[in-house]
Amino acid sequence: MMKLACKDLDPETDCHFEATGNSTKEVAGKMMKHMKEAHTDKMKEMGMSDADMMKMFESKVHA
Ligand SMILES: [Zn+2]
Repeated sequence: MMKLACKDLDPETDCHFEATGNSTKEVAGKMMKHMKEAHTDKMKEMGMSDADMMKMFESKVHA
C-alpha cells in the first residue's frame, strides 16, 4: 500500500486526509483531486502547474 497525507505535504495543516493506493500514480491522482476540492487556496499560493504538482506528489508518496 502506497500513501500520501496532507501532513506529508504541509506539517502545519489541520487536514487529516490521506490518499492511499497501489501505485504512486494512483495516490498522486487522489491527492490532486483532494487538493482541488479542499485546498484550492493553497494550490493558488503554490502557483504550480498540475503537471508539476503531480510530480511533486509522486516524489513524496511513501509505503
Ligand atoms: Zn487535505
